Amino acid sequence: MCGIVGYIGKNNAKDVLIEGLKRLEYRGYDSAGIAIVNDQTKKKVSIVKAVGKVAALAEKSQKRALNGSVGIAHTRWATHGKPSVANAHPHSAGRITLVHNGIIENYQELKNILIKKKHIFTSETDSEVVAHLIEQECKKKNFEDAVYATLKQLKGAYALGIINSDEPGKLIAVRNSSPLVLGVGDGEYIFASDPSAIIQHTKDVIYLEDGEVVIATASGYTVKTLTQKIRHRNVQKLEWNDEQAQKEGYAHFMLKEIFEQPHAIADALRGRMEIGEGLARLGGLRSVTDELREIERIIIISCGTSYNAGLVGEYMLEEYAGIPTEVEYASEYRYRKPLIDKHTAVIAISQSGETADTLAAIREAKRKGALTLGIVNAVGSTIARDTDAGVYNHAGPEISVASTKSFTSQLSILVLLTVLLGRQRDMSFTMGKRILTEMKRIPRHIDTIAKQDKKIKKLAQKYKKYDDLFYLGRKYNYPIALEGALKIKEISYVHAEGYAAGEMKHGPIALIDKDLPSIIIAPKDSVYEKTVSGIEEIRARRGKVIVITTKGTKELEKIANDIIEIPKTLEMLMPLLTVVPLQLFAYHFGVARGLDVDQPRNLAKSVTVE
Ligand code: GLU
Repeated sequence: MCGIVGYIGKNNAKDVLIEGLKRLEYRGYDSAGIAIVNDQTKKKVSIVKAVGKVAALAEKSQKRALNGSVGIAHTRWATHGKPSVANAHPHSAGRITLVHNGIIENYQELKNILIKKKHIFTSETDSEVVAHLIEQECKKKNFEDAVYATLKQLKGAYALGIINSDEPGKLIAVRNSSPLVLGVGDGEYIFASDPSAIIQHTKDVIYLEDGEVVIATASGYTVKTLTQKIRHRNVQKLEWNDEQAQKEGYAHFMLKEIFEQPHAIADALRGRMEIGEGLARLGGLRSVTDELREIERIIIISCGTSYNAGLVGEYMLEEYAGIPTEVEYASEYRYRKPLIDKHTAVIAISQSGETADTLAAIREAKRKGALTLGIVNAVGSTIARDTDAGVYNHAGPEISVASTKSFTSQLSILVLLTVLLGRQRDMSFTMGKRILTEMKRIPRHIDTIAKQDKKIKKLAQKYKKYDDLFYLGRKYNYPIALEGALKIKEISYVHAEGYAAGEMKHGPIALIDKDLPSIIIAPKDSVYEKTVSGIEEIRARRGKVIVITTKGTKELEKIANDIIEIPKTLEMLMPLLTVVPLQLFAYHFGVARGLDVDQPRNLAKSVTVE
């Protein structure tokens, strides 16, 4: 999820690695660590770790003699186990030391086997398992073969940097679904999660592909496939400055994060779907499985974008799990008289896990005897600790203040939760399987929508002169209308109103004229015809209309001013798709109006005050 730097060459590795970690700091992290092969003749690896900032790690490492020219370093964004020195990377097992970004899905299974073989674990991480596995394989194989034998057993996403004190002049790096770039210098090689940690040393890089392994020594490197075949990769020249490198060529973090959504969703689903059985498995809820079976009512509490995700959850949970669900603003809920009993589950949704209002509301619900659950991105955060059980998003840190990938990640978890609770109740195996099969396709569908970026940019430029916008949707897409409008408000400071399409005629339609364009979410779903009547009513009042609809809905071409198409999917999953063009539209709208979209005025990323 966060950062890796590896170095092998002629210079002092510590300096390169610490400097590299500093350049990766913008990615967000909770702890950091470094391992240096200190004295190649003595085959000794020294490790230093610290919770918090890289500066703290730098200070700690000052006090140690770290003089080698081979090393690996890491900034951690915890997914398995709280942020702590013990859980910080690098992790060691015997002579093997490694750093890992990503998630090992089957780590518990592998750990159980290793424990039987007398391996002793010192952290709660999934990553430590990889170090022990390699060590185990090294008993019968050489270093390189042991790494390959280990990779065959791993399920999940990983970028790895591995050293072996018995072969101190070698560094092995692997990429599978977590980013890793190799910098090819003059007699030195630098690995990093993104080029920002490399470009001050060399502009010659190779973006490693999934399933590639690099074996590097100070005198050269070889790129191999997972089947140990040599692969010839061309070196590419990067002409980016530091800032461009951090954004990986995207103009803003917000745009980068919109494009990262397929990956973030895949990470939210990783290891949690048993499609063949039509089941969702959420490890964090295992301890409350029996209580969940008894739940008769759900209250979701959240704020801002997470609130809109909760509203989509309400539709899903009621329709497919058959559980009455309400969604409340945390800031309101905490001051109401909550009517709760022990068959009520209160779910807090918060990206940071520190949202003050949500935290206060969840504490109040707990006092009243509810089962409290969290859907949280930041591992070890206060809400994650204060709830009875919960699910982590694994979306990675979000830098842009306006939330995008956290939203679709929250929706993905709500889909899994719906399947889990539904299958405990009346949902059939076929339905469970159908939802999960379609869910698995969502990342690819988002890629297809993101390809329309240029078209959406043009649309945003066309509409940028308007100071008011209307967002309308029904049923599953009513919350998406709210989210689309919220995004515009946040980053463009333009008045945008999200409304349930059916409510138009009860008041707001009076506002419609040629100066108030509407963005209408009208995919081919169970309320499509109703939404189309709304479009006709707006057009009859000279209002301009942009429609988000399902691919191939030809009849709308006659009535809409502009159309953005999304691929077909199940009705309950449509919000995961319809929101993407709205995020892109809001982004380009803000940029077209010359605003700083990553850091909008008056807003903070994590709202820790009431
Ligand atoms: N899953 C690993 C952990 O929790 C790696 C997290 C990361 O990518 O930083 O330690």
